[in-house]
Amino acid sequence: MKAIISDIHSNLEALQAVLEDIKKQPVDEIYCLGDIVGYGPNPRECVDLVMACKMVLLGNHDQGAMFDPEGFNPPAEKAIFWTRSQLESPSDSRQQKEKRWEFLAERPRSHKENGFLFVHGSARNPLNEYVFPEDIYNQRKMERIFALVERSCFQGHTHVPGIFTESLQFHSPDEIDYTFKLDGRKTLCNVGSVGQPRDGDWRACYVLLDNETIRFRRVEYDIDTTVKKIYAVPDLENFLGDRLRDGR
Ligand code: ZN
Repeated sequence: MKAIISDIHSNLEALQAVLEDIKKQPVDEIYCLGDIVGYGPNPRECVDLVMACKMVLLGNHDQGAMFDPEGFNPPAEKAIFWTRSQLESPSDSRQQKEKRWEFLAERPRSHKENGFLFVHGSARNPLNEYVFPEDIYNQRKMERIFALVERSCFQGHTHVPGIFTESLQFHSPDEIDYTFKLDGRKTLCNVGSVGQPRDGDWRACYVLLDNETIRFRRVEYDIDTTVKKIYAVPDLENFLGDRLRDGR
């Protein structure tokens, strides 16, 4: 069984709670679809924990922290520059810093395995394209994306978990009792976000994949601690904490 996590966004409490939940399942390997950092208060700790995953992709915020950020709104960009300063923190040893930078710099943008594709954004633009639930009404876009998928594609980036079918339907996890069985038809699965869910449910989200069965997991975490930490960092705007409570 695989656990697939994404969009941690430097939320250490959420990541730790998810890793604890994973430990209780018969999981052999953890895949991470990117955006380890950005928005949240613990980038270094989150990078260190994610390094233990079997497969980790590059997210747009991870890339932004390493290179010149492009296409981010001002609060997100400010968070990215703060994240970079944390990764360059003088309190860490040079060796420690180099290990994190090298790890981030070596991340691939996609991963293929037995007809399954893993990306941060979309099959068409692995790093940056959003596939939102309402895109089911954009037939052209969805057809082009599905054409690039052999069997199933696991993705993140929107922080909105759910299943897209090739017949252009979207199912949120609660509509399908948190379970979906792959049946040979092409499917896109958004695994949701560990550290900043945006589907109205504040709990951390991730996915378990066992053969053909996808299970969405929601995990409560110590959100008060994370919000307090965000409030304490001037470069992280307070709304980045408030939105965690709303799951928006
Ligand atoms: Zn993200």
